[in-house]
Amino acid sequence: MTDTVSPDLVLPDDQGAGGRSFDARVMELLAEVIASGTLTATKGAVTPRFERQFADLLGVRHAIACASGSAAVHAAVAALELEPGDEVITTAVTDMGALTPLLYQGLIPVFADVDRTTGNVTPETVSAVRSDRTRAVIVTHLFGNPADVGGIRSAMGEGVTVIEDAAQAFLASRGGQRVGTLGDVGCFSFQQGKHITAGEGGIVVTDDDGLAHEIRLFVNKSWPYGESQPDHRKLGLNYRTTELHSAVLLAQLPRLPEFVAHRRRLAEQLSAGLASVPGLVTPAPAPGAEHAYWRYPLVMDQAVVPDGVTRLARRLRSRGIPAAPRYIGKPAFRCGIFVDARTLGSSSWPLSLARPEARDYDAARFPGTFAFLESVLVLPWNEKFEEVHVELLLATIGEEVGRT
Ligand SMILES: *Cc1c(COP(=O)(O)O)cnc(C)c1O
Repeated sequence: MTDTVSPDLVLPDDQGAGGRSFDARVMELLAEVIASGTLTATKGAVTPRFERQFADLLGVRHAIACASGSAAVHAAVAALELEPGDEVITTAVTDMGALTPLLYQGLIPVFADVDRTTGNVTPETVSAVRSDRTRAVIVTHLFGNPADVGGIRSAMGEGVTVIEDAAQAFLASRGGQRVGTLGDVGCFSFQQGKHITAGEGGIVVTDDDGLAHEIRLFVNKSWPYGESQPDHRKLGLNYRTTELHSAVLLAQLPRLPEFVAHRRRLAEQLSAGLASVPGLVTPAPAPGAEHAYWRYPLVMDQAVVPDGVTRLARRLRSRGIPAAPRYIGKPAFRCGIFVDARTLGSSSWPLSLARPEARDYDAARFPGTFAFLESVLVLPWNEKFEEVHVELLLATIGEEVGRT
């Protein structure tokens, strides 16, 4: 099989034109925005159109576009109007942009362990860290594999808001319902490496009218556009998007279903091809769930393939394939922010308010988190992948792992 793959073949890279699909429609909508002279989303027509179409695509009442995925998470937690020291259960296997907003809001991120093969939090792991200060849970659908939001919701019961971090899970679904609409609020990112992009950007979705109102205020410096007696009634930031961003995104949106279907079809081909290789665990969505394949996470059984992740990563890199062992170098709670409580000045606030157990980052409490990070190899993935690229991966992985 090896000699059917050209040695010059490179994988499409979503950081440039090779892995992205900007077409004439993008230029057309951008030109319209420029010609209109209105670049601010507060006065423009394109941002509301994009928000409406995004909401309709997901089957949700409200969508509020904003500056980034981090801003989306920040707006979602700010809208809950929690008290300093309140706890939000989350994961240590995520983007830091999903965690720092909690600290800025005076909230305590309480890390739940993750499943060692999916890297997702589960009803059991979130229940294990629940306390009487728990007010919300952030459920991250890692790499686009839908987590058990329904189970988590039941496990938490009334009074705990479920926020989905769907930054990696565009059009993923579970039980026939789109990810991002399974909980109370869903957050997405349009950063360069996500399923659709404007370089930066984000969006928050919800069916809750009250939350939608608060979210929109928060990203608009708490300025209630359209009210007869407006006032900045509370804290807010300028987390707005622009008409330029919305134009670029609106142009891509109709093609998103096709992009995700393509990612899925090729990922399933790779999984089928790897099925017979011992020691490899390919991504498996739960029954009734559909994966969005932001990336292709390959989990290796270290007992079957000793040192497999490191060796395979080296091999893939030597063929120009940027495979990432561990996804993130270390669990988030091993970063300085948490280890040294480096927050506002020398105050350690709000971590200074935390119960000691909420800041117990002992490895023994996170067996799934450490096992997952040690055994995962993250392969790049995007809508420009073709069969030849799957062949290249199959050949390279087969050569390396097959030899053990
Ligand atoms: C990308 C990402 C974010 C942050 O989004 P930005 O747009 O980079 O701020 C948050 N959570 C997850 C899971 C992400 O992948």
